[in-house]
Amino acid sequence: MAHFPTPDGRAPWRASVLTLFPEMFPGPLGLSLAGQALTAGLWAIQTHQIRDFGLGRHAQVDDTPAGGGVGMVLRADVLGPAIDHARAANPDAPAIYLSPRGKPLDQVLARELAAGPGVVLVAGRFEGIDERVIEARSLREISIGDYVLSGGDLAAMVLIDACIRLLPGVLGKSESTTQESFENGLLEHPHYTKPREWEGLSIPGVLLSGDHKKIAEWRHEQALKLTSERRPDLIARRERSS
Ligand code: SAM
Repeated sequence: MAHFPTPDGRAPWRASVLTLFPEMFPGPLGLSLAGQALTAGLWAIQTHQIRDFGLGRHAQVDDTPAGGGVGMVLRADVLGPAIDHARAANPDAPAIYLSPRGKPLDQVLARELAAGPGVVLVAGRFEGIDERVIEARSLREISIGDYVLSGGDLAAMVLIDACIRLLPGVLGKSESTTQESFENGLLEHPHYTKPREWEGLSIPGVLLSGDHKKIAEWRHEQALKLTSERRPDLIARRERSS
């Protein structure tokens, strides 16, 4: 993990990931925007192989569910020491278990996590992890959506990516994230680029008018229209908070 300071003197935002598949990382996070920021030392990643804390000759990490039932459960006496080890290297970061039962990840939560020193992420597998480890290590549970993945690794990558792009210096222009979907409680307006005409379809005239006030008004109207049609829940939330 990089320990040198970022160009503005801050320590890099640190992602520590506990996983049975460390070879998955940084994966897509090593490419494009996130990859450039990683190389620039704006953030750092460290993986911890859960199996290194496994028990016995076979480094066992899981066992059958108490009370019976299908599948396997990651053991508390394996994960507990693994989490303690990861936390020792990233002591101020919140410890999070990626879980379909968790608080849904949204832009507000991503901003909150990006503003901190980093995250310690537990990527589950099988049927999940022993409940006692969640309680004993005060793990925060976060979900990336109402569906079930085979493991928490992809969810960890999603969370990390959502945070990294919010770190100072990662995106080119400071306003790049402020106009995006969810930042003002709305989905983003549509985008267009060249050519002016494509397959008989034109760019809306207002965008070519050069009138910045009218363009801003049009974009806001479009954002409201799209959000009302597709995500009335966001409109209701906006109205409740205004
Ligand atoms: N038995 C669990 C349940 O029904 O809630 C699902 C376990 S899932 C097959 C294995 C692991 O994938 C979980 O321990 C969790 O870490 C991760 N996972 C699955 N879906 C997720 C989601 N929507 N958000 C975050 N993590 C998820």
